[in-house]
Amino acid sequence: MQHYDIVIVGTGPAGLGAAFELQARRPQDSILILDKNEMSSGGLRNDCKMNFSWPIGFPETCWDEVTASYYLKRVEDFLQPAIMERKNIRTYVHRAEKIGVKLLEIRQSHLGTDGGIELIKQLTARLQAAGVAIALGETMKTMDASAKVITTDKREIHYTDLILAPGRSGFAFLQDMMNLCSIPYRDNIVDIGVRVETREERYPIVKDYYDPKFMFPKKTRTFCTNSRSAHVVQERYGDPETGYWYSVNGHAWSSSRPANGLVNFAMLKTVTLTAPLASGQAYARMLGMQASLLGGGRPIMQRIGDFRLGKRSFAESFTGDLYDFEPTLPSCTPGDIALSAPAKVLNALWNGIKLLDSIVPGLLHPSTILYYPEIKLYANKPVFIDQYFRVAEGLYLIGDGAGTSRGITAAWASGLRAADGILRERG
Ligand SMILES: Cc1cc2nc3c(=O)[nH]c(=O)nc-3n(C[C@H](O)[C@H](O)[C@H](O)COP(=O)(O)OP(=O)(O)OC[C@H]3O[C@@H](n4cnc5c(N)ncnc54)[C@H](O)[C@@H]3O)c2cc1C
Repeated sequence: MQHYDIVIVGTGPAGLGAAFELQARRPQDSILILDKNEMSSGGLRNDCKMNFSWPIGFPETCWDEVTASYYLKRVEDFLQPAIMERKNIRTYVHRAEKIGVKLLEIRQSHLGTDGGIELIKQLTARLQAAGVAIALGETMKTMDASAKVITTDKREIHYTDLILAPGRSGFAFLQDMMNLCSIPYRDNIVDIGVRVETREERYPIVKDYYDPKFMFPKKTRTFCTNSRSAHVVQERYGDPETGYWYSVNGHAWSSSRPANGLVNFAMLKTVTLTAPLASGQAYARMLGMQASLLGGGRPIMQRIGDFRLGKRSFAESFTGDLYDFEPTLPSCTPGDIALSAPAKVLNALWNGIKLLDSIVPGLLHPSTILYYPEIKLYANKPVFIDQYFRVAEGLYLIGDGAGTSRGITAAWASGLRAADGILRERG
Protein backbone atom coordinates (compact mmCIF):
# COMPACT_ATOMS: atom_id res chain seq x y z
CA MET A 1 0.00 0.00 0.00
CA GLN A 2 1.28 3.47 -0.85
CA HIS A 3 2.00 5.87 2.00
CA TYR A 4 1.97 9.67 2.02
CA ASP A 5 2.71 11.89 4.99
CA ILE A 6 -0.18 14.14 4.01
CA VAL A 7 -3.15 13.32 1.78
CA ILE A 8 -5.46 16.13 0.67
CA VAL A 9 -8.80 15.31 -0.95
CA GLY A 10 -10.08 18.11 -3.21
CA THR A 11 -8.12 20.48 -5.45
CA GLY A 12 -10.39 23.47 -4.79
CA PRO A 13 -8.96 26.56 -3.11
CA ALA A 14 -9.10 24.92 0.34
CA GLY A 15 -7.03 21.91 -0.77
CA LEU A 16 -4.66 24.04 -2.84
CA GLY A 17 -4.11 26.51 0.00
CA ALA A 18 -3.16 23.67 2.34
CA ALA A 19 -0.95 21.96 -0.26
CA PHE A 20 1.10 25.08 -1.09
CA GLU A 21 1.61 25.96 2.56
CA LEU A 22 2.62 22.44 3.60
CA GLN A 23 4.92 21.99 0.64
CA ALA A 24 6.65 25.32 1.30
CA ARG A 25 7.15 24.72 5.01
CA ARG A 26 7.66 20.93 5.11
CA PRO A 27 9.31 20.12 1.77
CA GLN A 28 10.61 16.86 3.26
CA ASP A 29 7.06 15.47 3.64
CA SER A 30 5.39 13.44 0.89
CA ILE A 31 2.13 15.09 -0.14
CA LEU A 32 -0.65 13.76 -2.35
CA ILE A 33 -3.58 15.88 -3.50
CA LEU A 34 -6.38 14.11 -5.35
CA ASP A 35 -9.62 15.09 -7.04
CA LYS A 36 -12.44 13.15 -8.62
CA ASN A 37 -12.52 15.64 -11.50
CA GLU A 38 -9.83 16.40 -14.03
CA MET A 39 -9.76 19.96 -12.71
CA SER A 40 -10.89 21.70 -9.55
CA SER A 41 -14.64 22.04 -10.00
CA GLY A 42 -15.73 24.92 -7.74
CA GLY A 43 -15.60 28.70 -8.00
CA LEU A 44 -11.94 28.84 -8.98
CA ARG A 45 -13.03 27.52 -12.36
CA ASN A 46 -16.40 29.33 -12.41
CA ASP A 47 -16.10 33.09 -12.69
CA CYS A 48 -13.30 33.28 -10.12
CA LYS A 49 -14.11 36.55 -8.45
CA MET A 50 -12.24 36.80 -5.20
CA ASN A 51 -13.24 38.85 -2.16
CA PHE A 52 -10.53 40.15 0.14
CA SER A 53 -12.57 41.75 2.93
CA TRP A 54 -14.06 40.45 6.14
CA PRO A 55 -16.72 39.05 6.52
CA ILE A 56 -17.34 37.96 2.91
CA GLY A 57 -16.97 34.20 2.67
CA PHE A 58 -16.12 33.71 6.35
CA PRO A 59 -18.79 32.01 8.51
CA GLU A 60 -18.72 33.76 11.85
CA THR A 61 -19.09 30.44 13.66
CA CYS A 62 -15.50 29.59 12.66
CA TRP A 63 -13.82 32.96 12.23
CA ASP A 64 -13.48 36.29 13.97
CA GLU A 65 -12.38 39.43 12.17
CA VAL A 66 -8.82 39.40 13.49
CA THR A 67 -8.17 35.77 12.55
CA ALA A 68 -9.83 36.10 9.13
CA SER A 69 -7.92 39.30 8.33
CA TYR A 70 -4.62 37.66 9.30
CA TYR A 71 -5.27 34.71 6.97
CA LEU A 72 -6.73 36.89 4.18
CA LYS A 73 -3.47 38.83 4.10
CA ARG A 74 -1.58 35.57 3.65
CA VAL A 75 -3.96 34.51 0.85
CA GLU A 76 -3.53 37.86 -0.88
CA ASP A 77 0.27 37.78 -0.54
CA PHE A 78 0.28 34.40 -2.23
CA LEU A 79 -2.29 35.00 -5.01
CA GLN A 80 -1.27 38.61 -5.77
CA PRO A 81 -4.71 39.56 -7.17
CA ALA A 82 -5.39 42.67 -9.26
CA ILE A 83 -7.90 44.47 -7.02
CA MET A 84 -10.65 46.24 -8.96
CA GLU A 85 -11.54 49.83 -8.30
CA ARG A 86 -14.97 50.70 -6.85
CA LYS A 87 -16.28 53.99 -8.23
CA ASN A 88 -19.24 56.28 -7.64
CA ILE A 89 -20.85 54.11 -5.01
CA ARG A 90 -21.54 56.79 -2.36
CA THR A 91 -24.96 57.49 -3.89
CA TYR A 92 -25.90 53.82 -3.64
CA VAL A 93 -24.61 53.59 -0.06
CA HIS A 94 -26.75 56.56 0.98
CA ARG A 95 -29.86 55.33 -0.80
CA ALA A 96 -29.41 51.93 0.86
CA GLU A 97 -28.91 53.38 4.34
CA LYS A 98 -32.12 55.39 4.07
CA ILE A 99 -34.19 52.22 3.65
CA GLY A 100 -32.40 50.01 6.15
CA VAL A 101 -30.14 48.19 3.67
CA LYS A 102 -26.37 47.90 3.94
CA LEU A 103 -24.01 47.97 0.98
CA LEU A 104 -20.72 46.37 1.99
CA GLU A 105 -17.60 47.81 0.42
CA ILE A 106 -15.46 44.85 -0.51
CA ARG A 107 -12.02 44.59 -2.13
CA GLN A 108 -12.46 42.29 -5.12
CA SER A 109 -10.62 40.81 -8.07
CA HIS A 110 -12.17 39.04 -11.06
CA LEU A 111 -10.52 36.60 -13.42
CA GLY A 112 -13.58 35.19 -15.21
CA THR A 113 -14.13 31.53 -15.94
CA ASP A 114 -11.39 31.40 -18.59
CA GLY A 115 -8.96 33.28 -16.30
CA GLY A 116 -9.81 30.90 -13.43
CA ILE A 117 -9.09 27.84 -15.57
CA GLU A 118 -5.72 29.33 -16.52
CA LEU A 119 -4.96 30.02 -12.83
CA ILE A 120 -5.78 26.42 -11.86
CA LYS A 121 -3.45 25.12 -14.57
CA GLN A 122 -0.65 27.36 -13.33
CA LEU A 123 -1.18 26.42 -9.68
CA THR A 124 -1.28 22.67 -10.30
CA ALA A 125 1.82 22.90 -12.51
CA ARG A 126 3.63 24.75 -9.71
CA LEU A 127 2.66 22.13 -7.15
CA GLN A 128 3.76 19.33 -9.42
CA ALA A 129 7.08 21.04 -10.11
CA ALA A 130 7.57 21.36 -6.34
CA GLY A 131 7.20 17.59 -5.93
CA VAL A 132 3.57 17.32 -4.76
CA ALA A 133 1.86 14.23 -6.22
CA ILE A 134 -1.39 15.14 -7.99
CA ALA A 135 -3.98 12.50 -8.85
CA LEU A 136 -6.85 13.82 -10.98
CA GLY A 137 -9.87 11.74 -11.94
CA GLU A 138 -9.57 9.73 -8.72
CA THR A 139 -12.47 9.61 -6.25
CA MET A 140 -12.13 8.95 -2.54
CA LYS A 141 -14.80 6.42 -1.59
CA THR A 142 -14.31 5.59 2.05
CA MET A 143 -11.83 5.59 4.91
CA ASP A 144 -10.68 3.76 8.01
CA ALA A 145 -9.57 6.46 10.46
CA SER A 146 -8.14 4.02 13.00
CA ALA A 147 -5.91 2.36 10.37
CA LYS A 148 -5.29 5.76 8.67
CA VAL A 149 -6.23 4.40 5.28
CA ILE A 150 -8.41 5.91 2.57
CA THR A 151 -9.87 3.92 -0.30
CA THR A 152 -10.32 5.56 -3.69
CA ASP A 153 -11.84 4.09 -6.85
CA LYS A 154 -8.28 3.13 -7.81
CA ARG A 155 -6.32 2.14 -4.70
CA GLU A 156 -5.82 2.18 -0.94
CA ILE A 157 -3.56 4.88 0.50
CA HIS A 158 -2.02 5.09 3.97
CA TYR A 159 -1.60 8.56 5.46
CA THR A 160 -0.30 10.27 8.56
CA ASP A 161 -2.44 13.40 8.19
CA LEU A 162 -5.58 13.63 6.08
CA ILE A 163 -7.29 16.83 4.95
CA LEU A 164 -10.76 16.48 3.46
CA ALA A 165 -11.75 19.48 1.32
CA PRO A 166 -14.48 18.13 -0.98
CA GLY A 167 -16.41 21.42 -1.38
CA ARG A 168 -20.14 21.84 -1.72
CA SER A 169 -20.46 19.02 -4.22
CA GLY A 170 -18.88 16.77 -1.57
CA PHE A 171 -21.32 17.82 1.13
CA ALA A 172 -23.07 14.44 1.37
CA PHE A 173 -19.77 12.56 0.98
CA LEU A 174 -18.37 14.48 3.92
CA GLN A 175 -21.41 13.61 6.01
CA ASP A 176 -20.85 9.92 5.16
CA MET A 177 -17.21 10.19 6.27
CA MET A 178 -18.18 11.98 9.50
CA ASN A 179 -20.77 9.30 10.26
CA LEU A 180 -18.16 6.61 9.57
CA CYS A 181 -15.65 8.24 11.92
CA SER A 182 -18.27 9.10 14.59
CA ILE A 183 -17.56 12.81 14.25
CA PRO A 184 -20.49 14.83 15.55
CA TYR A 185 -21.83 17.54 13.26
CA ARG A 186 -24.82 19.73 12.65
CA ASP A 187 -26.21 20.82 9.31
CA ASN A 188 -29.05 23.15 10.09
CA ILE A 189 -28.47 26.19 7.89
CA VAL A 190 -29.31 26.54 4.22
CA ASP A 191 -29.45 29.47 1.81
CA ILE A 192 -32.41 29.44 -0.56
CA GLY A 193 -32.98 31.94 -3.31
CA VAL A 194 -33.44 32.95 -6.89
CA ARG A 195 -30.97 34.06 -9.54
CA VAL A 196 -31.93 37.35 -11.10
CA GLU A 197 -30.96 38.08 -14.71
CA THR A 198 -31.42 41.39 -16.42
CA ARG A 199 -29.79 43.81 -18.81
CA GLU A 200 -26.76 45.65 -17.49
CA GLU A 201 -28.38 49.03 -18.09
CA ARG A 202 -31.10 48.05 -15.58
CA TYR A 203 -28.51 47.24 -12.91
CA PRO A 204 -25.77 49.75 -13.80
CA ILE A 205 -24.07 49.60 -10.41
CA VAL A 206 -22.01 46.70 -11.79
CA LYS A 207 -20.07 49.12 -13.98
CA ASP A 208 -18.69 50.70 -10.80
CA TYR A 209 -18.65 47.77 -8.39
CA TYR A 210 -18.30 44.29 -9.88
CA ASP A 211 -20.03 42.22 -7.18
CA PRO A 212 -22.02 44.60 -4.95
CA LYS A 213 -22.94 42.96 -1.66
CA PHE A 214 -26.27 44.25 -0.36
CA MET A 215 -27.57 43.05 3.01
CA PHE A 216 -31.36 43.31 3.43
CA PRO A 217 -33.63 42.68 6.39
CA LYS A 218 -34.86 39.11 6.99
CA LYS A 219 -31.37 37.57 6.48
CA THR A 220 -31.50 38.22 2.77
CA ARG A 221 -28.57 39.32 0.62
CA THR A 222 -27.24 39.61 -2.91
CA PHE A 223 -24.54 37.11 -3.78
CA CYS A 224 -22.24 36.26 -6.68
CA THR A 225 -22.93 39.01 -9.23
CA ASN A 226 -21.69 38.43 -12.77
CA SER A 227 -21.65 40.87 -15.66
CA ARG A 228 -20.10 41.84 -19.00
CA SER A 229 -20.13 38.30 -20.40
CA ALA A 230 -22.43 36.68 -17.85
CA HIS A 231 -24.38 33.42 -17.96
CA VAL A 232 -26.71 31.48 -15.71
CA VAL A 233 -25.82 27.81 -15.31
CA GLN A 234 -27.27 24.80 -13.51
CA GLU A 235 -25.64 22.35 -11.11
CA ARG A 236 -26.94 18.83 -10.58
CA TYR A 237 -27.26 17.29 -7.12
CA GLY A 238 -28.51 13.89 -5.96
CA ASP A 239 -27.98 10.43 -7.38
CA PRO A 240 -29.83 7.87 -9.50
CA GLU A 241 -31.33 6.17 -6.43
CA THR A 242 -32.77 9.18 -4.61
CA GLY A 243 -33.31 11.28 -7.74
CA TYR A 244 -31.65 14.36 -9.18
CA TRP A 245 -32.41 18.00 -8.55
CA TYR A 246 -30.89 21.23 -9.78
CA SER A 247 -29.64 24.49 -8.35
CA VAL A 248 -28.91 27.42 -10.64
CA ASN A 249 -25.74 29.49 -10.39
CA GLY A 250 -23.95 32.12 -12.44
CA HIS A 251 -20.57 32.91 -13.93
CA ALA A 252 -18.92 35.31 -16.36
CA TRP A 253 -16.07 35.09 -18.81
CA SER A 254 -13.13 37.45 -18.51
CA SER A 255 -13.19 40.85 -20.20
CA SER A 256 -11.30 39.37 -23.16
CA ARG A 257 -14.54 37.63 -24.31
CA PRO A 258 -17.36 39.54 -26.11
CA ALA A 259 -19.84 41.19 -23.72
CA ASN A 260 -23.51 40.08 -23.87
CA GLY A 261 -24.82 43.11 -21.98
CA LEU A 262 -26.44 40.98 -19.27
CA VAL A 263 -25.96 40.73 -15.54
CA ASN A 264 -26.99 38.02 -13.08
CA PHE A 265 -26.81 37.68 -9.32
CA ALA A 266 -28.35 35.58 -6.58
CA MET A 267 -30.81 36.92 -4.03
CA LEU A 268 -30.52 34.50 -1.11
CA LYS A 269 -32.26 34.07 2.19
CA THR A 270 -30.55 32.20 5.01
CA VAL A 271 -32.81 29.71 6.78
CA THR A 272 -31.77 28.27 10.14
CA LEU A 273 -33.64 25.10 11.06
CA THR A 274 -34.41 23.85 14.51
CA ALA A 275 -35.76 20.53 15.79
CA PRO A 276 -37.46 18.39 14.66
CA LEU A 277 -36.06 18.99 11.14
CA ALA A 278 -32.48 20.06 11.60
CA SER A 279 -30.94 18.87 8.33
CA GLY A 280 -30.39 21.64 5.81
CA GLN A 281 -29.33 18.97 3.33
CA ALA A 282 -32.65 17.11 3.66
CA TYR A 283 -34.67 20.32 3.44
CA ALA A 284 -32.73 21.58 0.44
CA ARG A 285 -33.22 18.26 -1.30
CA MET A 286 -36.99 18.37 -0.77
CA LEU A 287 -37.19 21.93 -2.10
CA GLY A 288 -34.96 21.01 -5.03
CA MET A 289 -37.06 17.94 -5.84
CA GLN A 290 -40.27 19.98 -5.64
CA ALA A 291 -38.91 22.61 -8.04
CA SER A 292 -37.75 19.82 -10.31
CA LEU A 293 -41.21 18.22 -10.20
CA LEU A 294 -42.93 21.47 -11.16
CA GLY A 295 -40.30 22.25 -13.76
CA GLY A 296 -40.51 18.85 -15.42
CA GLY A 297 -37.00 17.90 -14.31
CA ARG A 298 -35.52 21.39 -14.76
CA PRO A 299 -35.20 24.63 -12.81
CA ILE A 300 -38.03 27.13 -13.22
CA MET A 301 -37.75 30.58 -14.80
CA GLN A 302 -40.28 33.38 -14.61
CA ARG A 303 -40.33 36.94 -15.91
CA ILE A 304 -40.75 39.50 -13.13
CA GLY A 305 -43.65 40.99 -15.14
CA ASP A 306 -45.55 37.69 -14.77
CA PHE A 307 -44.43 37.18 -11.17
CA ARG A 308 -45.83 40.57 -10.16
CA LEU A 309 -49.17 39.74 -11.74
CA GLY A 310 -49.25 36.35 -10.01
CA LYS A 311 -49.19 34.60 -13.41
CA ARG A 312 -46.96 31.76 -14.50
CA SER A 313 -44.60 32.40 -17.40
CA PHE A 314 -45.02 30.53 -20.69
CA ALA A 315 -42.63 30.06 -23.58
CA GLU A 316 -44.23 33.16 -25.21
CA SER A 317 -43.23 35.21 -22.15
CA PHE A 318 -39.69 34.94 -23.41
CA THR A 319 -40.39 36.16 -26.93
CA GLY A 320 -42.96 38.98 -26.43
CA ASP A 321 -42.12 42.57 -27.46
CA LEU A 322 -41.69 43.72 -23.86
CA TYR A 323 -39.12 41.05 -23.23
CA ASP A 324 -35.98 42.30 -24.79
CA PHE A 325 -33.39 39.65 -24.03
CA GLU A 326 -33.19 35.88 -24.21
CA PRO A 327 -32.53 33.86 -21.05
CA THR A 328 -28.94 32.60 -20.91
CA LEU A 329 -30.17 29.29 -19.44
CA PRO A 330 -33.00 28.62 -21.90
CA SER A 331 -33.31 24.96 -20.88
CA CYS A 332 -35.24 26.07 -17.74
CA THR A 333 -39.00 25.60 -17.72
CA PRO A 334 -41.14 28.76 -17.84
CA GLY A 335 -43.38 28.48 -14.79
CA ASP A 336 -44.55 29.87 -11.48
CA ILE A 337 -41.94 30.12 -8.73
CA ALA A 338 -44.61 30.88 -6.14
CA LEU A 339 -45.95 27.34 -6.53
CA SER A 340 -42.63 25.94 -5.43
CA ALA A 341 -40.78 28.27 -3.05
CA PRO A 342 -41.89 28.49 0.62
CA ALA A 343 -43.92 31.65 1.28
CA LYS A 344 -41.59 32.94 3.99
CA VAL A 345 -38.58 32.61 1.71
CA LEU A 346 -40.32 34.11 -1.29
CA ASN A 347 -41.62 37.10 0.71
CA ALA A 348 -38.13 37.87 1.97
CA LEU A 349 -36.62 37.55 -1.52
CA TRP A 350 -39.30 39.72 -3.13
CA ASN A 351 -38.91 42.30 -0.38
CA GLY A 352 -35.16 42.35 -1.07
CA ILE A 353 -35.68 42.73 -4.83
CA LYS A 354 -38.09 45.64 -4.32
CA LEU A 355 -35.69 47.38 -1.94
CA LEU A 356 -32.88 46.84 -4.41
CA ASP A 357 -34.95 48.45 -7.16
CA SER A 358 -35.26 51.53 -4.96
CA ILE A 359 -31.48 51.69 -4.69
CA VAL A 360 -30.65 50.76 -8.28
CA PRO A 361 -33.84 51.63 -10.20
CA GLY A 362 -34.54 49.47 -13.22
CA LEU A 363 -34.40 46.00 -11.81
CA LEU A 364 -38.17 45.63 -11.69
CA HIS A 365 -38.52 45.96 -15.45
CA PRO A 366 -40.99 43.23 -16.52
CA SER A 367 -38.40 41.47 -18.64
CA THR A 368 -36.09 40.69 -15.69
CA ILE A 369 -35.92 36.92 -15.18
CA LEU A 370 -36.03 35.02 -11.89
CA TYR A 371 -34.54 31.51 -11.94
CA TYR A 372 -35.41 29.13 -9.10
CA PRO A 373 -34.01 27.41 -7.10
CA GLU A 374 -30.56 28.64 -6.15
CA ILE A 375 -29.57 26.66 -3.07
CA LYS A 376 -26.29 26.86 -1.19
CA LEU A 377 -25.32 23.85 0.86
CA TYR A 378 -22.27 24.66 2.86
CA ALA A 379 -23.45 24.48 6.38
CA ASN A 380 -22.04 21.20 7.67
CA LYS A 381 -20.80 22.13 11.10
CA PRO A 382 -18.46 19.45 12.41
CA VAL A 383 -17.37 19.64 16.03
CA PHE A 384 -13.73 20.72 15.73
CA ILE A 385 -11.34 19.76 18.49
CA ASP A 386 -8.98 22.65 17.91
CA GLN A 387 -8.77 25.97 16.10
CA TYR A 388 -7.11 24.31 13.09
CA PHE A 389 -10.24 22.50 11.93
CA ARG A 390 -9.05 19.17 13.34
CA VAL A 391 -11.84 16.69 14.09
CA ALA A 392 -9.76 13.67 15.15
CA GLU A 393 -6.12 12.72 15.40
CA GLY A 394 -4.59 13.40 11.95
CA LEU A 395 -7.91 14.40 10.37
CA TYR A 396 -8.86 17.93 9.25
CA LEU A 397 -12.07 19.08 7.51
CA ILE A 398 -11.92 22.36 5.58
CA GLY A 399 -13.50 24.44 2.84
CA ASP A 400 -17.15 24.94 1.92
CA GLY A 401 -18.13 21.30 2.48
CA ALA A 402 -17.08 21.50 6.12
CA GLY A 403 -18.79 24.87 6.63
CA THR A 404 -15.49 26.68 7.24
CA SER A 405 -15.90 28.91 4.17
CA ARG A 406 -18.34 30.29 1.62
CA GLY A 407 -16.02 31.55 -1.06
CA ILE A 408 -12.64 31.11 -2.71
CA THR A 409 -10.49 33.26 -0.44
CA ALA A 410 -12.01 31.96 2.80
CA ALA A 411 -11.63 28.39 1.51
CA TRP A 412 -7.96 29.06 0.77
CA ALA A 413 -7.62 30.60 4.25
CA SER A 414 -9.16 27.48 5.82
CA GLY A 415 -6.50 25.41 4.01
CA LEU A 416 -3.78 27.62 5.49
CA ARG A 417 -5.28 27.23 8.94
CA ALA A 418 -5.34 23.43 8.72
CA ALA A 419 -1.77 23.49 7.38
CA ASP A 420 -0.75 25.60 10.41
CA GLY A 421 -2.31 22.94 12.64
CA ILE A 422 -0.43 20.10 10.95
CA LEU A 423 2.83 22.03 11.08
CA ARG A 424 2.32 22.72 14.76
CA GLU A 425 1.73 19.02 15.47
CA ARG A 426 4.82 18.05 13.49
CA GLY A 427 6.99 20.55 15.31
C1 LIG B 1 -20.64 27.78 -10.32
C2 LIG B 1 -19.96 28.37 -9.11
C3 LIG B 1 -19.47 29.67 -9.15
C4 LIG B 1 -18.83 30.20 -8.03
N1 LIG B 1 -18.28 31.42 -8.11
C5 LIG B 1 -17.57 31.90 -7.09
C6 LIG B 1 -16.87 33.11 -7.20
O1 LIG B 1 -16.87 33.75 -8.24
N2 LIG B 1 -16.20 33.57 -6.11
C7 LIG B 1 -16.14 32.88 -4.93
O2 LIG B 1 -15.49 33.34 -3.97
N3 LIG B 1 -16.78 31.71 -4.80
C8 LIG B 1 -17.48 31.21 -5.86
N4 LIG B 1 -18.11 30.02 -5.73
C9 LIG B 1 -17.98 29.32 -4.45
C10 LIG B 1 -16.62 28.67 -4.44
O3 LIG B 1 -16.57 27.76 -5.48
C11 LIG B 1 -16.38 27.93 -3.16
O4 LIG B 1 -16.56 28.77 -2.06
C12 LIG B 1 -14.96 27.36 -3.12
O5 LIG B 1 -14.59 26.78 -4.34
C13 LIG B 1 -14.87 26.34 -2.03
O6 LIG B 1 -13.63 25.75 -2.08
P1 LIG B 1 -13.41 24.25 -1.62
O7 LIG B 1 -11.97 23.97 -1.84
O8 LIG B 1 -14.01 24.06 -0.30
O9 LIG B 1 -14.31 23.37 -2.61
P2 LIG B 1 -14.32 23.20 -4.19
O10 LIG B 1 -13.69 24.35 -4.86
O11 LIG B 1 -15.70 22.84 -4.54
O12 LIG B 1 -13.37 21.97 -4.44
C14 LIG B 1 -13.68 20.70 -3.93
C15 LIG B 1 -13.05 19.68 -4.83
O13 LIG B 1 -13.18 18.40 -4.22
C16 LIG B 1 -13.44 17.45 -5.21
N5 LIG B 1 -14.10 16.29 -4.58
C17 LIG B 1 -15.31 16.26 -3.97
N6 LIG B 1 -15.55 15.04 -3.47
C18 LIG B 1 -14.47 14.28 -3.76
C19 LIG B 1 -14.13 12.92 -3.53
N7 LIG B 1 -14.95 12.10 -2.87
N8 LIG B 1 -12.94 12.47 -3.99
C20 LIG B 1 -12.10 13.30 -4.67
N9 LIG B 1 -12.38 14.59 -4.92
C21 LIG B 1 -13.55 15.08 -4.48
C22 LIG B 1 -14.34 18.18 -6.19
O14 LIG B 1 -14.27 17.60 -7.47
C23 LIG B 1 -13.75 19.59 -6.17
O15 LIG B 1 -12.83 19.82 -7.21
C24 LIG B 1 -18.74 29.45 -6.84
C25 LIG B 1 -19.25 28.16 -6.80
C26 LIG B 1 -19.83 27.60 -7.92
C27 LIG B 1 -20.33 26.18 -7.85
